[in-house]
Amino acid sequence: MGLFSRRKTRFVDSDILVIGGGFGGCGATYESRYWGRDLKIVLVEKANIERSGAVAHGLSAINCYMGMRWNENQPEDHVRYARGDLLGIVREDIVYDNARHVDSAVHKFEEWGLPIMKDKKTGRYLREGKWQIMIHGESYKPIIAEAARKAASEVHNRIMVTHLLMDKTKPNRVAGAVGFSVRSGDFYVFRAKAVIVGAGGASHIYRPRAIGEGTGRTWYAPWSSASAYGLLIPTGAKMTQMENRIVLARFKDGYGPVGAWFLLLKSVATNAYGKEYESKWLEHTKAIVGAKYTDSQPFPTCLRNHAMLEEMKAGNGPIYMQTQRVLDTAEKEEIGWEDFLDMTIGQAVVWASQNIDPKEKPSELITSEPYVMGSHATCSGAWASGPEDCAPDDYQWGYNRMTTVEGLFGAGDTMGGAPHKFSSGSFTEGRLAGKSAVRYVRDLKGDQPQLDENEVNELKQAVFKPQENYKLGRNEIVAGTVSPSYLLPLHGLQRLEKLMDEYVGGYSTFYVTSKPLLERGLELLAMLREDLVHLGAEDLHQLQRAWELHHRVLTAESVTRHTLFREETRWPGYYYRADFPKLNDNDWHVFTGSRYDATTGEWHMEKLPVHHIIE
Ligand SMILES: Cc1cc2nc3c(=O)[nH]c(=O)nc-3n(C[C@H](O)[C@H](O)[C@H](O)COP(=O)(O)OP(=O)(O)OC[C@H]3O[C@@H](n4cnc5c(N)ncnc54)[C@H](O)[C@@H]3O)c2cc1C
Repeated sequence: MGLFSRRKTRFVDSDILVIGGGFGGCGATYESRYWGRDLKIVLVEKANIERSGAVAHGLSAINCYMGMRWNENQPEDHVRYARGDLLGIVREDIVYDNARHVDSAVHKFEEWGLPIMKDKKTGRYLREGKWQIMIHGESYKPIIAEAARKAASEVHNRIMVTHLLMDKTKPNRVAGAVGFSVRSGDFYVFRAKAVIVGAGGASHIYRPRAIGEGTGRTWYAPWSSASAYGLLIPTGAKMTQMENRIVLARFKDGYGPVGAWFLLLKSVATNAYGKEYESKWLEHTKAIVGAKYTDSQPFPTCLRNHAMLEEMKAGNGPIYMQTQRVLDTAEKEEIGWEDFLDMTIGQAVVWASQNIDPKEKPSELITSEPYVMGSHATCSGAWASGPEDCAPDDYQWGYNRMTTVEGLFGAGDTMGGAPHKFSSGSFTEGRLAGKSAVRYVRDLKGDQPQLDENEVNELKQAVFKPQENYKLGRNEIVAGTVSPSYLLPLHGLQRLEKLMDEYVGGYSTFYVTSKPLLERGLELLAMLREDLVHLGAEDLHQLQRAWELHHRVLTAESVTRHTLFREETRWPGYYYRADFPKLNDNDWHVFTGSRYDATTGEWHMEKLPVHHIIE
């Protein structure tokens, strides 16, 4: 066992283990308690649920609210919207299920103290757009965290979960998880009857546009480290749509949001000469995806990106948001600033540092590096069983939101095929997963999962190996930080980002990739994975970085394999297959699916059916 054999091991038992206390995890914890009054519900989080997750800092809008009590939208409308935005392919059963329940979650947020802005004329929530409502959201996360804290039997903050555990007696059943405290260094073994993963999406898989000291500045949070996928993939859970990465058009350098500018303030984006450009590229876009999808209302997000990219390639950049054309009142100016101060303070700092007064001059927009996630406008994640009352037969195998691994559930970014959940929808999906997990636990009766002690001991060694590598390897260093025998997490991360950028459709190739590029990318990824056993971690913080890197690399491989498998360009503006430059509905109106076999290292790819249940 080596240098760290005296490390403490702590065992935590539960009926339901929730991993990740973001929006999905907090929803799951809250609802598990509602249905499982007598159950032990444990929430484990690598940071502190008070301020953790993609939007720990707060938000200025809730992006998914139907407004059914005022007859503003119906769940069916939301399915049509999500399907149009994703060019035809979403799990309509799951999108519908989230949509029909989301309003009640938002009403709870208000009851718990979240200030939601009101339309002075109608008294209803103030709409930013058709689906979005405006909030004073600096304390959004602490408010929902409080609900989870009160519902949980125990909350374990500062524990990085590294692996899920499988049942000794049934190979396809989950039995818990292991991880370590990033404060004490203790090893944690969580035994559970059901596990709900809400560990968030992935930034820093692709090289960010930001460089040097600013590299930590990305759109999706830098601490969103792909654990939702990195934990699930090794269990053999079926994944879907991992190629469906997201690229965002955002304010340049600060990644400031554009929603309030476009939707509420009615600002427009133009080329460098102040001219509208989107309509110019319509015929060009139609030639790639067909009129059926370009006619979709609103115009799909990826196709907007596509127009912007073409305009930049034509030499007509920078692209500008014409802020000064709309800030004609003090109230609007305040909304503009508050939008950034609520959720992307860095963008306000960019304005200040670059002498930009939004009342006086326009601000640059640009497309971001790609991110992998399942809750925003794209839908990478696990293939899940759908709701009993409306999922087609081949979309359900027992419990709503259960993955293809027994007892393993998910919510938010973890769940595939169901985009446009955002914060409220992720919380709602957590609630749905929690309710199902309670039912699953009750149905188990005496048939409880068993841990494999050998596996746990092996994992304990593996988890702390980077610290051991460091302790031994640092003796070989004569100067600086470069060691002949270990790889630092940052160096591994930079290698990953560079190869994903150059081979798997990052911004430096204008998001273009092809079979030869993807195959070369896979070769380089295999070499990187080989080197990960040599990661060196100076302290517990670096140990966390090391395991985040493991999760990112496995996720990156999944993205690359899915991208290779889907032989078409389905979402121009997110990525392009140069060797299959058009959308191909005849062969590819399907979900992609993959299953990784951790014992052989093989990936099994397949096509999964798309069922349209809403007209
Ligand atoms: C910049 C930005 C702007 C956004 N704007 C809006 C908006 O305006 N309106 C809106 O409604 N939504 C918005 N969203 C979307 C919203 O934040 C997400 O949809 C939502 O947070 C997803 O929920 P989740 O539970 O899947 O992930 P998260 O909320 O990110 O939660 C994941 C949790 O898992 C924890 N975790 C991760 N790995 C581990 C591990 N290995 N072990 C233990 N814990 C772990 C994390 O610390 C975190 O607490 C925005 C997101 C971003 C990034």
